[in-house]
Order: sequence, then structure tokens, then C-alpha cells
Amino acid sequence: GVEVEGVPAAALERHAELSELVEEANWRYYVLDAPTVSDAQYDAWMRELHALEEEHPSLRTPDSPTQKVGAPVSGDFTPVGHLSPMESLGNAFSADDLATWVSRVERLAEQDPGPYLCELKIDGLAISLVYEKGRLVRGVVRGDGRVGDDVTANVRTIADVPHRLTGDDVPDLVEVRGEIYIPVEEFAKLNEQLVAAGRPPFANPRNSAAGSLRQKDPRVTAQRPLRMLVHGTGVWQGSTRPPTQSAVYERLREFGLPVSDLCRVVDDLDGINGYVEHYREHRHDPAYEIDGVVVKVDRIDLQRDLGSTSRAPRWAIAYKYPPEEVNTELLDIQVGV
Ligand code: NAD
Repeated sequence: GVEVEGVPAAALERHAELSELVEEANWRYYVLDAPTVSDAQYDAWMRELHALEEEHPSLRTPDSPTQKVGAPVSGDFTPVGHLSPMESLGNAFSADDLATWVSRVERLAEQDPGPYLCELKIDGLAISLVYEKGRLVRGVVRGDGRVGDDVTANVRTIADVPHRLTGDDVPDLVEVRGEIYIPVEEFAKLNEQLVAAGRPPFANPRNSAAGSLRQKDPRVTAQRPLRMLVHGTGVWQGSTRPPTQSAVYERLREFGLPVSDLCRVVDDLDGINGYVEHYREHRHDPAYEIDGVVVKVDRIDLQRDLGSTSRAPRWAIAYKYPPEEVNTELLDIQVGV
């Protein structure tokens, strides 16, 4: 049974209520690709859950939404296990949160953790591409982080995704992690087409990417303007992985994979804050929607030392910008494409 001794009934009740709201939202967002609440509302519920569990640690059971990634597989595709887990990211909402994260990294690393890599947080959906001897053999979405839907046939229709890796030192086996997205302009055009065809539009670019990728018929996916950018690796066997995340990206670029030009290596918290503030002002410069910045410890050996919690790496954090506007009208529309 759940250990809830000493937890006031009101906290217990609120925790159950929030958990239910979050689980329902997860289902609509991850499985149906049709959210009915804003990301800001969802993040507020999660923050309240975290706070309750901070105050009453016995509420932090393994089945709490704070301990899990994503949602279970949908049943529409074949479930496939990831070779290494696909995680979520811890969140920062203020300069203070970032400073706290940096000091924790410095303390846990027990040394100067060296440079940080700053990246844009692309608002799409995570994909894992498995390459064996340089050949694309599988594309799998994140699912619950351990098992995800097999969308190989759909992923093969995306022009940014190479079917073969090129260049030297291609690993025997590598999991390439990236974000699948639809550029903002293409999203608008796609919605116009859907509406013209009498079909419901997507709520936002993220959902349009998720809904377009998770089609049962890959020919439909092939007609959608899906793009991909790489942001990590899982297993890497049979060749030497470069020693930093930024060098890994350069290697992946040599393999023919799409890598963002907007990542920057910075020395310290000041550099991180500079990047965050720059993109707060230039949030709409990239062709795709971003909901924040991801900061990573650049050194891979330190990433390994720092490790992960049950759902997120300690060596990375997502800084979320405040929401700009909530289009509740679109959010109310159920998407059934
Ligand atoms: P997350 O989106 O906060 O962060 C993890 C994800 O970031 C990774 O899986 C990866 O796909 C992505 N990412 C984008 N750019 C990246 C980069 N450069 N480097 C590394 N990763 C990058 O966490 P999550 O667990 O995927 O989802 C939680 C978030 O999803 C919530 O905060 C909320 O915004 C949204 N959500 C909304 C609803 C809703 O109903 N509105 C429901 C569930 C989730």
C-alpha cells in the first residue's frame, strides 16, 4: 500500500486530484495528440505536485506523475524497447532556478564542470533513430521512456532523416535522438489545407508534428512538412564517441544528420543567462517554435558521472519561457486526423 502516514487529508486529496488531471492531460497530449489544456496550466499542476511532494515526501511514490516520463504506448503501433532510456528534462522557470541548477552541478561534479552547451528547446516530439552499420533500421517515439511506438515506415518518409550514415568512424550501432517538428509557416499552411478539406486543424505546431508522424498510413506522413534536428545520442557502439556533446554534434553532422547551427558553448552561468536572454528577445527568429532553452554539461564523462533521476538527467535542464498567449479557441477543438 501507499505510505501516507502523517499526510493531512487535504494534501492527500489535492495530490490525488492533481495526479488525475495530469494523467488525463498526458493521455490527450501524448496519445491523442490533442491537448485540452495549455502547457502553462499543465506546468502549473506539475509544479504544485512537486511542491506537495517536497512537503510530504511519502506522496512521492513510483507511480506519481512526477516520477514518470510521457505516457504509455498508444496501441496503434508495435511497441519497441529503447536500448537506452529516453528521458524527460528538469525545468527552470527563473534565473534563480538556473543558478540553483548550476551550483548543484558544480557540487555534484566535485570539480569545475567545464563548459555548458546551450540549445534551443524545439517544441516538437522526440524520436530515437537506430542505425546499424550506418543503416537506419528503426525509428521509435519516446513512449514512457523505456518502450515507444515503432514509427519506422513514417520516419523513412522525412527528407531530413538519412537512410544511411556517411563519413568515417560510423558506429556499428547508434541511437540518434532528435526532435521532429513542423516549421511555423508550414504549420499555418497545413492547417489551412485541413480546414479547406473540412477537417479539424491542429492546436499548435507540436501537435501537428506528433499527429503527422503518428499516422497509420505512411503515405499521409510523407505529405506532411516534417523536419528533424538532432539533440543527443543513446547507445554508441563500435567507434569512439567524441568526448563532448558539442563534438558529438559535429560528428553527427559529418554522418549526414541535421544539426542546429544555433547551439553555443558557454563557460559559466553568465554565458547561460546571456543565451537565455538573447532568445527571449529573438524567440521567433528560428523557423520552428521554441518553448525555451536546454542547457547541458558539455563533457560526456561528467554527464555519465552526474547520471539521472528516475525521469531526467542531472546534467541538463530546460529553461521554459513564459507562455505568450493561449489560443483557447483552438485548444477546444478536438483533433481527429
Ligand atoms: P519537456 O518537453 O519539458 O522536455 C523534454 C523534451 O524536450 C525531450 O523529450 C525532447 O524531445 C525535447 N527537446 C527539445 N529540444 C531539445 C534539445 N535541444 N535537447 C534536448 N531535448 C530537447 O518534457 P516532456 O516530458 O516531453 O513533456 C512535458 C511538457 O510537455 C510539459 O512541460 C508541457 O509543456 C507539455 N505537456 C503538455 C500537456 C498539455 O496537456 N498541454 C500534457 C503533457 C505535456
